[in-house]
Amino acid sequence: MGYTIPLFDLNFDHQEEQAVMEVLRSKWISTGPKTIEFENLFAQMLGANHALAMANCTVALHLAMLLANVKEGDEVICPSLTFVATANAIRYVGGIPVFADIVGNDNLNLDPKDIEQKITPKTKAIVVMHYGGFACDMDRIMGIAKKHNLKVIEDACHGPLSEYKGRKLGTIGDVGCFSFFSNKNISTGEGGMLVTNCSDTYEKAKLLRSHGMTTLSYERAKGHSTSYDVVELGYNYRMDDIRAAIGIAQLQKLENDLKKRVGVRKNYEDSLGSIEGITIPFTAYPHFSSNYIFPVVLNNSTREKRDYVREELAKAGIQTSVHYPAVHRFSIYKDFYTPLPRTDYVADNLITLPMYAGLKQQDIYYIYESLNKTLK
Ligand SMILES: *Cc1c(COP(=O)(O)O)cnc(C)c1O
Repeated sequence: MGYTIPLFDLNFDHQEEQAVMEVLRSKWISTGPKTIEFENLFAQMLGANHALAMANCTVALHLAMLLANVKEGDEVICPSLTFVATANAIRYVGGIPVFADIVGNDNLNLDPKDIEQKITPKTKAIVVMHYGGFACDMDRIMGIAKKHNLKVIEDACHGPLSEYKGRKLGTIGDVGCFSFFSNKNISTGEGGMLVTNCSDTYEKAKLLRSHGMTTLSYERAKGHSTSYDVVELGYNYRMDDIRAAIGIAQLQKLENDLKKRVGVRKNYEDSLGSIEGITIPFTAYPHFSSNYIFPVVLNNSTREKRDYVREELAKAGIQTSVHYPAVHRFSIYKDFYTPLPRTDYVADNLITLPMYAGLKQQDIYYIYESLNKTLK
């Protein structure tokens, strides 16, 4: 509100409106045909065997922990430079989050060396988060997981259609989790998706999503079954058809939206590349990325200096953010604190600049000028 250039711009038009109206008029508004269609489209797009639509990504991550059989006292290695939900999911099942450091200012993803150093006999799983849609070093991480018999959960919230060596992010580990919160690449208001290639994992996730019940009310309404059993202590983590219909409309726009984002990133790299004193993470990145956000890191800086730069940009009408305040420094995580110098530096000196498909070259030039002037 009130910014000339917002951080993010929702890619909505009459297509989402029509999709919602169609569902409202059909009178089936909870989990049903649109949800199944959305899941099938999503799985197809990713080349995954199964996709399960969820109420949001946080609950998908919770189920991922249950599916990985993480129990009270089990250790799960995770990043700290992520949204807090990545670590909270570990706590929901009584697991111990063991925070690992990032590679550095130019690669904000988990460092495989630090992951390996933090493995103990209690380690059960690794959660990776593909920052901004840029893939973690999955060859090394999957190798470490295999060697130590660990499950791998991908928090792929930033990366729908992002790739790693020809494979889509979210389909490389045991379970992948996506978010369709308003400001993500795909927006449904609230929403998420759990992706897996394993049929048993999928069947169990489907039970847990809906109270552990053996049938959905949509299936009963269709006459496919008349009763049900309850075989797991499940939850209500379902998505409804209103949101699924918005998701389908969004999926149809996704490829084109991501193509434009590639251009936006290139414009940014071309203009900001000449500014001294900043690092643009993931330059020369070799795979396709969804470019969910565009981060820059100030070199030889401090938190105070970074906050000053953000204030000056705000005065110029440019909205910025910080992805992310480090999770291991939050009050609620003080018992799990471990020193992470590279994460600390980035959390204190990173600025997320505006990123959306419709961001114009002249906007980027204006951002460049404002940033350059402030840094001088
Ligand atoms: C958005 C986000 C989440 C949480 O997703 P919700 O759908 O809001 O629950 C988790 N992890 C990361 C990395 C995110 O960006």
